[in-house]
Amino acid sequence: MSSTSEGRSPVVVIGSGPAGMATALALHKVGHTPIVLERYREARPAGNILNLWPPPIKALREMGVDITDLGAPCHTTFRGVHGNVRADVRIPDDVVRDYGGGFIGLLRPELYRRMLAAMPADVIRFGTTVVSLEDRGDDVRVTLGDGEVIDAGVVVGADGIDSMVRTHLWGASDKREHRLQIVGGYTFADVPGAERNEVVLRHDRTVQGTYSSIRDGGRDGFQWWVLQAWDPEAPAPADLRAHALGLARRFPGPLAGLVEATADDACQRWMIRDRKPIPRWSRGRITLAGDAAHATSPYAAYGAGMSIGDGYTIGQELAGLDLTDTAGVHAALSRYDDRRVAHTTAQVQQAYVLGQVFHHAPAPLRPLRDFVLDHTPLLQKQVGERTPGEIVAQLAEMGDGLRGRA
Ligand SMILES: Cc1cc2nc3c(=O)[nH]c(=O)nc-3n(C[C@H](O)[C@H](O)[C@H](O)COP(=O)(O)OP(=O)(O)OC[C@H]3O[C@@H](n4cnc5c(N)ncnc54)[C@H](O)[C@@H]3O)c2cc1C
Repeated sequence: MSSTSEGRSPVVVIGSGPAGMATALALHKVGHTPIVLERYREARPAGNILNLWPPPIKALREMGVDITDLGAPCHTTFRGVHGNVRADVRIPDDVVRDYGGGFIGLLRPELYRRMLAAMPADVIRFGTTVVSLEDRGDDVRVTLGDGEVIDAGVVVGADGIDSMVRTHLWGASDKREHRLQIVGGYTFADVPGAERNEVVLRHDRTVQGTYSSIRDGGRDGFQWWVLQAWDPEAPAPADLRAHALGLARRFPGPLAGLVEATADDACQRWMIRDRKPIPRWSRGRITLAGDAAHATSPYAAYGAGMSIGDGYTIGQELAGLDLTDTAGVHAALSRYDDRRVAHTTAQVQQAYVLGQVFHHAPAPLRPLRDFVLDHTPLLQKQVGERTPGEIVAQLAEMGDGLRGRA
């Protein structure tokens, strides 16, 4: 096993997205020596718009990330096209108070800045691509693009939806096309009617139009997105902002004004895809975290949040462990799977189903669907009550934080 200057075998983390950074921060906090290998020359946020739920905020705080004023605290409602509330997501007051305001709206580069600021020097090696892995029983041999070899106690594949680590462990799998397109952006303009500290998520028969308060570097603003069915083979709209504006105008209120106030270069588009969840992530000394383990539709607004939760849990499970203890490492990674797989699988599947129900329901069923959502407590029960319940349960499951070695 390679040893570090302190004489311990390193944990190699592949990828420096939210999952990789969180894993490294948590491992460092509990006394291990992480090395993050990132193929790009810098940590590159994939886009801008982001909301985070309280569990990742708790995890970030425990990892030593400054969460002060990280985002705009938001209260969330699901509404019909005319603004009628279908579900009111009320996070308990003590959770809102204890975790930076509850559900927060922010821009992704700010999250990266905060996580990088907490990262010890020299943990991340940029411009480094991993080309192969070999679990040799007592360690894992990691081979880099330039031929260098690192022998690690544990390897965490935090290498995103196209994870080579997942393919290495569990074989190739197809991406699941949701046949959905999301166009989103942000602005710091003051737009009449836009409610501060709210996420206003609305659906008409086929389109979702949402805006959320954000805070970024001490400035208040708004992010927004429009989401609709889209053929993955079809070309992207030529003018993203004009396309988004056309959809936003279907929703009375400030959404169209927010799109109009957005600069072209603050507007982005994504096709939504995930991979079907797998029953286990870890094998031997190698495991997965983040999108590599559970690529998730943005319908959950939880992919990055769950990635951060994975890193936190890996830190907890490897705390105090001698990485030369092969049986101990296997058992710790197995406990990590036990704690994370079912929870994240449920989120991935719920996000997939919501996308299908709201955007791919057959046309004759849509009026019935909307009648039920407008006139029964179904969405309130499914989303308005279930989400806060799950958040509270998740916070409890996370326990008392990250403890260093005795
Ligand atoms: C439009 C949109 C909106 C979203 N909104 C939200 C939201 O509101 N809230 C939320 O929680 N989540 C949201 N998500 C989901 C979230 O963005 C992802 O779940 C999250 O970025 C996953 O983080 P990750 O670290 O697992 O992967 P990534 O961010 O993809 O990072 C993987 C890293 O691994 C590196 N890498 C890959 N292969 C190698 C290799 N062989 N060697 C070295 N490095 C490698 C890559 O360069 C990359 O830096 C949204 C996603 C989209 C598309």
